[in-house]
Parts: sequence; structure tokens; C-alpha cells
Amino acid sequence: MSQQQAPSRHHVVVIGSGFGGLFGTKALRGSEVDITMIAQTTHHLFQPLLYQVATGILSEGEIAPPTREVLRSQDNAQVLLGTVTGVDLEGRTVTSHVLGRETKTSYDSLLVAAGSAQSYFGNDHFSEHAPGMKSIDDALELRGRIFGAFEMAELAANRGDEIEHLLTFVVVGAGPTGVEMAGQIAELANRTLREDFRLIQSHQARVILIDAAAQVLPPFGARLGGVARRELEKLGVEVILGAMVTDVDERGIEVKYKDGRTDSIKSVTKIWAAGVQASPLGRTLAEQSGAPLDRAGRIGVNPDLTLPGYPEVFVVGDMISLDNLPGVAQVAIQGAKYAAKTIDGRLKGSAPREPFKYFDKGSMAIISRFNAVAMIGKLRITGVLAWLMWLVLHLVYITGFKSRVTAILHWAVSFLGRGRSERTSTEQQIFGRAALNRLKRGATDLVSEPGAYDAAREMLETTRREELEAQAIEQARLTDAGERGAAVR
Ligand SMILES: Cc1cc2nc3c(=O)[nH]c(=O)nc-3n(C[C@H](O)[C@H](O)[C@H](O)COP(=O)(O)OP(=O)(O)OC[C@H]3O[C@@H](n4cnc5c(N)ncnc54)[C@H](O)[C@@H]3O)c2cc1C
Repeated sequence: MSQQQAPSRHHVVVIGSGFGGLFGTKALRGSEVDITMIAQTTHHLFQPLLYQVATGILSEGEIAPPTREVLRSQDNAQVLLGTVTGVDLEGRTVTSHVLGRETKTSYDSLLVAAGSAQSYFGNDHFSEHAPGMKSIDDALELRGRIFGAFEMAELAANRGDEIEHLLTFVVVGAGPTGVEMAGQIAELANRTLREDFRLIQSHQARVILIDAAAQVLPPFGARLGGVARRELEKLGVEVILGAMVTDVDERGIEVKYKDGRTDSIKSVTKIWAAGVQASPLGRTLAEQSGAPLDRAGRIGVNPDLTLPGYPEVFVVGDMISLDNLPGVAQVAIQGAKYAAKTIDGRLKGSAPREPFKYFDKGSMAIISRFNAVAMIGKLRITGVLAWLMWLVLHLVYITGFKSRVTAILHWAVSFLGRGRSERTSTEQQIFGRAALNRLKRGATDLVSEPGAYDAAREMLETTRREELEAQAIEQARLTDAGERGAAVR
């Protein structure tokens, strides 16, 4: 275990390099503090564009710049790779692990922004056949599965086998991510791949969007939800509402409708976009502080985003349950900036600040190229105008000039033309997750732990020395016994 050297200035530890973690760290740029950002990935991930990586529009690098590079010029910030496994609120330390290496980091102030993971509502085994979309790994696996399904269909057609299950794509969850994903798969099938195959008709692929709710995009209200549904149907997407997914396996899914009817859909490619569960760190914090947890694992925080009883600990973003705030990027960004200002203010001796107030800048969802729905205050916008607003907004928020320029080029290829610049996928991307899951401790099983390599070498050397000594003794005995060489007189 290594203990990180405590800095001399006020030390802020930030958990996570997502929207809350990164924007919180940047907001402390000019403060008299030292910051250690601990995150389990080396990049900052722009999750709203994951579906474009999964469908070959953008590369993973454009939406996931290295955090180290983003913070290169911020001298008071350092980045540490590691999955935080424990927080000791009394001892003010954070424990993190990476590939069997443990690090303990002490803090004066703590900003927890560990986000959320996909939720399968207690059916975690669904994830094997219906990946979610929360990480670069997920998006690349889905890319491989989606493009791979068309390849397998062409192969099946060549052999005279059934292809229907290979050309049926099911997206579970009709929120913004599900709508965007279904729309993009339909565009792939109808436009991008239309002339690429000889035996199959890619545009005959079935794209099905399923949700237990009664409408598409529930948070957008009935009118925009209705528009989104009609536009998806124009693209050929089958929208099934009021249907619960009850089972998922390699070949398909089972659904149960509100009226009790059941159905099974044969589909090799299933995508789960149905729910989220806050980071398990919320439970760790709740157990020590007594703060409540809601059903989605989000922790109840004070109006100033601090943990009850621990004013030096701030929790922001997808992990919190406060005033029904939604799990969106702006809640995390604004919360983290607020926490950073409070920390800075306290160091400067300023009076306590007003409670955190979220400013809702609106929500939008893309249906297809040149077509989106947006909700800004009382304004409801649809079609090309909403799509243009989406374009501008996402350009502003993509991190880094390089990524912005290449994203524009890739969007031109996909939206003005019919192509997709990022169609490459590999077997490792598709099957790597399942292979890693089979190792007891994941990737840790593939590398030596600190000291283990030296110990193994030393053991090998000792054994070898003992073998050589034994050989020498045996040689001497044989020689003494006159069984070989010249006898000793
Ligand atoms: C596919 C998708 C599309 C979305 N689209 C939109 C959209 O269009 N608009 C919108 O406003 N919001 C959207 N969201 C939601 C938005 O991305 C989240 O609300 C936002 O990312 C929350 O920010 P956060 O900082 O709380 O968490 P995140 O941004 O998820 O960051 C969490 C960070 O913590 C790290 N982490 C997690 N656990 C640990 C641990 N134990 N130790 C160390 N590090 C850890 C993660 O690696 C990550 O760096 C979307 C989300 C998804 C998944």
C-alpha cells in the first residue's frame, strides 16, 4: 500500500473525472489549494455522444480526451489513476486501487463526483447479452455488435440460413439515449449501409424501441414525446410502449405487456438504455454519515451539497438526491462549480453561501440527422432548428479544440454525406468484456502485484540454486563411489 504525500496547502481530493470532477477541479484553478483528482479512467468522458461512437460517427478520442492533457496547464492539480473503494470520513482518507495496487490519500476537503452506472433493475445477468452505454468500452462493444450483426447476416444469407434475428435490433429504454440510438441504427440501415452488402438488404433491418412507460421521452412531455415517436416511426423504428422486458438471452428478449400478454422477439443485438444506479460510493458515505439513500442509490445531501455532519465533504452530479434534480450534465457541472466556490470562499474567510440553485438550461434529444426535439423553459422546439441548437451546444461542450475540429469533419461526413468515419471494430472489443468477467479478479489476474514479481523471481532463483547444489552433490557422490570419472584415492 502506498500513502500519498500530504501537500502543505489545503488539499482537495476530487473523486471522478466526469462532468462534476473535471469542472470542479477546473473551478479551483486560481485557489490556494492542491488538488488530487482520483478517477478510474484516464480520460474525461462526454457521455452524451457515446451513441455516436457506438454507431461509427465519432472516434472515442473525440469524446474522451486524456484528463492529464486537459489539466496540463493547471499547476495545482494532479491526476491519479484508481478506483476509489473506500472513504474514511472520520480519518479523512480515500482508498483507491488499480491492478492490485492500493493508495491512501488524505484530504482536507473532498468532492465526490463518481456518477452512476447502468441499472438492470435487479437483473444484472441481462447485461451479458444487452450491454448498456456508460463507457468507451460499452460504446466500442456495441459498435462491434451492431456492424458485426450485418456481417453475420450476409454470411447467413450466403449459407441459406435464417437472418431475421441477425437483422433485428432492440433498444430497451425510450429516454434520450434510447431514442438517439434507435434513430442512428435506423439511419445506418437505411442510408449508410444500403449499398454495402450484396445478399442482404440492410434497409430491411428491424429496429425496435421498447419501454415500460406510456410515451417516448417521458421528461419532455406528451407533445414532444409524440413528435419524437412519429419521427422515429417515419424512419422505420417500431416503437413498443407499456412493455416490460422480463428476460434477455443470446438469441432474443421476452416482454410482458401491461394487459398481461407476453411476447418474445428474436434479436441478437440488444442495447440497454433503461436505467441508472448511482455509484456504490454513495452507500459507503451513507453508512458512515447516516444520510438517506433513494431507490436509485442516490444520496441525500444538504442544500449546500455537503454530506450531513461532514461539511468538508461535497457530493455532486448523478450521485445526489436533492429537490428532484435530474441526472444531467448541467446538474453535475453547476454543482461542482458551486462546491469549488464554497471551498475557495471558506479559505478566504467569506460568509456561508446561499444554498445550491440549479439553473435549467433545457434538454434536447436527437432523432436523426437534421431532426431533434428541444425543451428550453416554456419553449418547445422541433426539427432542423432544434438540431442546429444541439450541434452548436455540443460543439461548445466537447473538450478541446482538436476534438471540436475533427468532430465537425466527422459530422459533415455522416450528416451531409452518407458515410461513417469510424466503422472499425475488433473481436477483442466485442468479446473482451466476457473474457475479463471470467477472470476472478478481472484484469488484476493478468498482472503481477507490487513485490510479487520480485518474490517470484527470487523463489525461482532459490529453487534453481538448490537444484544446482543438489546436482553438484550427486556428481560428487557418483565420482566418490567411482561410478563416474576418476575415483578419489
Ligand atoms: C449515454 C448517455 C447519454 C447522456 N446524454 C445526456 C445529454 O444529452 N444531456 C445531459 O445533460 N446529460 C446526459 N447524460 C447524463 C450525463 O452524462 C450525466 O448526468 C453526467 O455525466 C453526470 O456527471 P457526474 O460527474 O455525476 O458523473 P460522470 O460524468 O459519470 O463521472 C463519473 C466519474 O467518476 C468516475 N468513477 C466512478 N466510480 C469511481 C470510483 N469508484 N473511483 C474513481 N472514479 C470513479 C468515472 O470513471 C467518471 O470519471 C447522458 C448519460 C449517458 C450515459
